[in-house]
Amino acid sequence: MLMHPYNELTFRLNVDAISPLLIKEGRYTETHKKTTWSGGLDEVKNRMPNVIPISRATEDEIKKAVTDPAPLTAVGKLSFFVPGSSMRGAWRSHLERILRSFETDTAKICDPLEEDEREADASCSRVLTLCEDLRVPYSQSCPVCRLFGSTMQASRISIGDGEVDRKQPGRLVQREHVRINRRTGAVGGAPLKFFALQETRFHVDVRLRNFELSHVVMLGMLLTDLKLSNVPLGSGKNKGYGKVRATVDGDMTLTCFGLERPPDTLLRGVAEHPVEAQRKWFQDRYHVVPQNPLQLPAHKQWSPDKEAPWRFHLGLSFDEFDAAWRTTSLNWSKVPALAARCEAEVQ
Ligand SMILES: [Zn+2]
Repeated sequence: MLMHPYNELTFRLNVDAISPLLIKEGRYTETHKKTTWSGGLDEVKNRMPNVIPISRATEDEIKKAVTDPAPLTAVGKLSFFVPGSSMRGAWRSHLERILRSFETDTAKICDPLEEDEREADASCSRVLTLCEDLRVPYSQSCPVCRLFGSTMQASRISIGDGEVDRKQPGRLVQREHVRINRRTGAVGGAPLKFFALQETRFHVDVRLRNFELSHVVMLGMLLTDLKLSNVPLGSGKNKGYGKVRATVDGDMTLTCFGLERPPDTLLRGVAEHPVEAQRKWFQDRYHVVPQNPLQLPAHKQWSPDKEAPWRFHLGLSFDEFDAAWRTTSLNWSKVPALAARCEAEVQ
């Protein structure tokens, strides 16, 4: 959808691990601990952790660290990161939960895990593959799939990997958990040893491109909850892991692409584009519904890019952004019910 850029919002987040954060390293498993890397030796096995956080280290480096005589120190030196896909999943499902609470009797937000197309909230990824002659999946996607994408539709939002802030690397901590036999309920065996990151700060670059104003509202809702530490991340949430707080670092940058400078104090989404969105075919093709532009602070002005032509920028602090997104709406009453997918496409 939308072959050329219309608008963009970019910013950097500081994600702080308040409680231990554990996004598991998939390349290190129980088999490595029990046999292949420990050689089955009890002395080595007993000191090896069960789970460590994901890193960019090679398998050899991971093996060396977990079998080290002091594994907590050795593993603590690996280059940890938070995959963008982990944040994408957590943030997406948080938004789904918020938006579902707005639904009254008709489902408007799909369940991306629901593969049965007969269910009312079947995923857009599944339902849209069954639509005949579907030309523009975006037009039939639910609001969350429009923002985060599906197998039929690219994402509007790009979330980079979380890179450790060298000034606030935090530390690797060890937590032990009792092992419970699921069948008998009895406690048994050596405790499980989890390594996780605490007080670590990660930088994450986020870009939202070709957005509708409702996407800005969704992002505003998400950033509010991220700041309040309401969106946990990673494994072990029921054990108290994964409490993170994310705050915007520095200014958020808005960009508009076009020949003419946009009017000051107004932000338009793709549905309010002064040329394209005035064409009926555009609205029909993408099913975007224009609404009142978002009000930017009165003292702000768009300024032309110093190096690249036909683009204009405007910087906002988080507080300014926070006040601005509340001046527009989700346009919720205009969001079609999921049941209308496929039927509604205009050829
Ligand atoms: Zn969907």
